[in-house]
Amino acid sequence: MTLEEYRERADSAKRIVFFGGAGVSTESGIPDFRSVDGLYNQKYDEPPETILSADYFYAHTEKFYKFYFDKMICTSAKPNAAHIKLAEWEKAGKLSAVVTQNIDGLHQAAGSKKVYELHGSTLRNVCTHCGRRYSLADILKTAPNVPKCACGGIIKPDVVLYGEPLPQIETERAVSEIMKADMLIVGGTSLTVYPAAAFIGYYRGAPENLILINKTPIAGFVNQLNGKIGEIL
Ligand code: NAD
Repeated sequence: MTLEEYRERADSAKRIVFFGGAGVSTESGIPDFRSVDGLYNQKYDEPPETILSADYFYAHTEKFYKFYFDKMICTSAKPNAAHIKLAEWEKAGKLSAVVTQNIDGLHQAAGSKKVYELHGSTLRNVCTHCGRRYSLADILKTAPNVPKCACGGIIKPDVVLYGEPLPQIETERAVSEIMKADMLIVGGTSLTVYPAAAFIGYYRGAPENLILINKTPIAGFVNQLNGKIGEIL
């Protein structure tokens, strides 16, 4: 299928859902995990999956935060052409939801309103003791030290760490939107982080309207455009 044919299909869709991952934000300067220059190919004492796990957070909070502030937070990042196009589609009534594995808040910064964040957001933080909420700016004040609440409790980012379940309400709403979609565009994800990656299995629309836009080809996708998602969208 040519790019023009994909565009015609998107033009005639009325309920697009976009399902994305870290590759959506690489053009904003935030590294993904599995590209050649991604975090998994940089050398650390421990693998990122270990550091970004719930067990590690509670057992080695200081080391967790050193990595987290250094590698997971990028306050200068701005939405790129992909975020902006998806927000435009929502405004035009063509796109019903963005379901994202990202934790950077860039879809909302681009103007998207219906965004389901399966893995939470670095912009929200919560005291593990009293539940008080903090912004990213709040916790950056003490970075790279462990942020502490006024009550003395440790503040934890509202992100889903390895070993933690997905947020229930976001998950249910995301699944419901995917089930109602007449086109599902999957983009910038290696589809290796479960259970999020399994969400595309809920799509019930025409098979030719299940489209992947990814730099790296993914086996099994009939309709795929391989390249930069910002340019392609
Ligand atoms: P991943 O790193 O496993 O895979 C990213 C995929 O995106 C790769 O297949 C890569 O080829 C592709 N890609 C990279 N740049 C691209 C571009 N410009 N255009 C099109 N494709 C591009 O990411 P994942 O599948 O999302 O899983 C990693 C997990 O880590 C997720 O939970 C994710 O939320 C989290 N994470 C989030 C951020 C963020 O919020 N920006 C950054 C890193 C990791």
